[in-house]
Amino acid sequence: MRVTLCQCVLAIALVANLVILYYGSKLQKRIVHRHRDTSVRGASQQLPSHRGMGVTILIREFEDFENHVAEAVQSFLQQRPDQPILVVADRLPYPPLALPAAPNVQVVILRPSPDQPAYTSRPESYIQTDYVALVPDGVKVESTRQLDTMLEEIKVSKGKAHMVAAPVQSLAPLQCLDVKVSLREWTVTYSMATSSKLCSAVRGDAVVLLATKDFFNLSAPLTKPLMTSVFIQTSLRGWTVKILEEVSFPASHQPLFSSSHNQWKADNLAKASRAKLFNDFGIKWVVTEDERQQWYGCSKETPRCFGTVHDDTPEYLFENRWTPPCCLKALRETAKYVTNILETSGVRYWLEGGSLLGAARHQDIIPWDYDVDLGIYLEDIPNCEFLRSIESGSIVDEKGYVWEKAIEGDFYRVQYSETNHLHVDIWPFYPKNGIMTKDTWMDHKQDVDFPEHFLKPLVPMQFAGFTAMAPNNYKSFLELKFGEGVIENPEYPNPALRKLEKGN
Ligand code: ZN
Ligand code: MG
Repeated sequence: MRVTLCQCVLAIALVANLVILYYGSKLQKRIVHRHRDTSVRGASQQLPSHRGMGVTILIREFEDFENHVAEAVQSFLQQRPDQPILVVADRLPYPPLALPAAPNVQVVILRPSPDQPAYTSRPESYIQTDYVALVPDGVKVESTRQLDTMLEEIKVSKGKAHMVAAPVQSLAPLQCLDVKVSLREWTVTYSMATSSKLCSAVRGDAVVLLATKDFFNLSAPLTKPLMTSVFIQTSLRGWTVKILEEVSFPASHQPLFSSSHNQWKADNLAKASRAKLFNDFGIKWVVTEDERQQWYGCSKETPRCFGTVHDDTPEYLFENRWTPPCCLKALRETAKYVTNILETSGVRYWLEGGSLLGAARHQDIIPWDYDVDLGIYLEDIPNCEFLRSIESGSIVDEKGYVWEKAIEGDFYRVQYSETNHLHVDIWPFYPKNGIMTKDTWMDHKQDVDFPEHFLKPLVPMQFAGFTAMAPNNYKSFLELKFGEGVIENPEYPNPALRKLEKGN
């Protein structure tokens, strides 16, 4: 038999290919093994080795003391034995979850362990699918069709909806909500959406599917409560969620939680994680779709939300935020309270500085102001028992407000409470040759003397939800103090430090 040159070259090439393939696969195995040695702590010590499955199941929210995580994982594995599943917990669940030791089932602990590389506490290191399904505890799957339908739907609605939500079979259907988040105003407002299918959030138990890339590009994708946190972040990005009505997931037969004690425990933990979420995100006021208001900011019992103000520029202005709504509310309350006392005790007062400016602009405190300023006639001080007796120290009145003489000079300050130092400043002026003047001057542009005719007479003006007294001809008064056009051209108190961005 004769071998041609061509056959010879082919044979050599074939052998060479086989050799490369053999060593190549050996090398790959070694890499995988090295990963296995150093990777995840938890139920399984392996990295998932498969690709091409469309969705990773991500279970983030469950309680150690009672959960159905193992049951949920089993139900997904029954449909697809190689279904990638990731259980994510803040710390190692105890008692341990009874999870099958399969390479496609991983537990990731978010708390970094100092002997492990950083990626081991980052769930995204273990996800190789293009999509993730966020699955609440106690949800099961009945057929592969459920996830497949969701996957088809999100691919079809690409560009229109970033997320697809399918309800968990329960008594209440999913509600389609609109979420408005204003970080500048520290608020989240929920309302019922006009659409029943395309929403910025859903209320109720749901399986939510979205692109892995989208999910892990959120600011804090795994923050609990997961759905509240995710929808705040996605609505800030203008993303929408589509409710799928043709798909639903059964809940597990045993309801969570089996005892009222466990239910109580779970409720308390949920409440605490909600408060922590809003605190972390800088949300202090939440208005729900049924118009309930929830406050997460300061109160009489807690310190005010911001520290000492330097150069007339409170710290929140550097964070592109305005006065926290709890602080505005407390300032309004304090202003109403103080002016009422001044009025009834016969002390002539008027809105001063930024407070008068706010009243002129929109009948309220300027949305980035940090205190309220009032002027009074010095000679009226003896009429008010609190102001009269302050010289001997500060007074806490029966409503918990603190009256004191300011250490900065000859003026008075009424604080919201002993703990919360939000305050109304009271500046005593006296007339001298027709000019209202005082002895302590602060380093503020608006802090100048002015003709007494602005106070003759004082006129009522709407401010912060009540009727306050103000100088007559307030426009000229304000322009005398701040400069021309001050009402029409809002500026931050110290534009050299922080400039108001116009047009938003
Ligand atoms: Zn506050
Ligand atoms: Mg002020």
